[in-house]
Formats: sequence, structure tokens, C-alpha cells
Amino acid sequence: MTTIIFATTNEHKVKELQDKIKDWNVNIISMLEAGIDIDIEETGTTFEENARLKAKAVSKYTDQIVLADDSGLEVDAINKEPGIYSARYLGDATSYEDKMNDIIRRLKGAANRSARFVCAMAMYQNEKELCCVRGTIEGYIGDTIKGAEGFGYDPFFYIENGKSLGEISLEEKNKISHRANAIKIIGDRYKQLWH
Ligand code: IMP
Repeated sequence: MTTIIFATTNEHKVKELQDKIKDWNVNIISMLEAGIDIDIEETGTTFEENARLKAKAVSKYTDQIVLADDSGLEVDAINKEPGIYSARYLGDATSYEDKMNDIIRRLKGAANRSARFVCAMAMYQNEKELCCVRGTIEGYIGDTIKGAEGFGYDPFFYIENGKSLGEISLEEKNKISHRANAIKIIGDRYKQLWH
């Protein structure tokens, strides 16, 4: 069975990915499980650049396939902010409630409230790129923060059924999310690697 090292220290992401790709016959482990404990600075200017630099950095330490992701929220009316700075918007210590309220304030009177979550995923082996893909979920920024499910910007991001991602179960979200879509695309593209 092929092992893929996920360049993340977030075990929750590793579990989610393993769960999604049950039928691929691959084993996903985190970089820590692989004994790779390095700090990677996200110095890229796009989601793809950050995913690539994380995957490449980890692939220096192993011959196995390395997968890395980078994700965030793009709000069209404010120049696609917070984008790659989603976690750092207004500072790491600022709560998501404050981050969301600030964006709602900036959107006051805006005709266009369209937004999307983006997830770029890159796969590398021996510092060479195997592929890099982008998954998205389209939606809009509501006026109110709603729901206690999910995390981060979920409670003010509404999808076409009129519900925020904070109002749907994790199971439902994991079927339609930007990460789910990126995983699907990368899987379709690279199934030949392990089949
Ligand atoms: P990372 O790619 O895990 O570093 O995520 C970057 C940041 O984007 C997170 O800290 C959140 O602020 C935001 N983000 C990414 N995915 C989601 C999501 O599914 N829901 C809400 N916020 C998200």
C-alpha cells in the first residue's frame, strides 16, 4: 500500500482525508507521524504557491509522496480578502467573531456579497511536483453570524440553500467543501499512481 505524507500537523485534516479516500488503497500519515518536524513559513502569494512550498519542503526529507494544502476565504467585494491571510486577518489573536463582524461592516451597502472558500492541494515527490489542484465552494457573506457547527469563517458563509456552513453538520459539509472538492480532483487526476 502506498503511503502519502500529509504536510500538516493538524491530525483532524489527516483523519478527514483518510476518511475520504478509503477506496484509494493508500495510507495517509501526518508529517509528525513520518518523523518530520519542521516549521514551514507560508511565504507564497497564492494558495497554490503556499501548498507547493509546504509539499516541497517536506519532500526534501522523504522519498514518499507528500501532499500539502492551503485554504482560506475570498470575498469578492473586498478584493478577495482575507485570502491567504484568512487565519491571520486582524491578527492571530483576534476571534473569528471579530474577524467576521469586521468583514460584515466592510460589506455594508455592497451589492455583491459573493465569496468562496478555496483549497489548493499540491503533491510532490523528491522535490518534484506531481500535481497541484484547486477546489472551491461558492457562497455569499450574510449579514448575520449563524450556527455553532464547523470552525473559522463558517457561520457567516451561506450556501445556496440559505444556510450558513455553521448550520450544517460536519458530515454534510465534508461532502461539499472546498477541501472535499480538491481531494476529489486530485484523486481523479492521480489515481494511476496507486491503482
Ligand atoms: P489552513 O489552510 O488550514 O491554514 O486554513 C487557513 C484559514 O482559512 C483557517 O484558519 C480559516 O480561517 C480559513 N478556513 C479554511 N477552511 C475553512 C473552512 O472550511 N471553514 C472556515 N474557515 C476556513
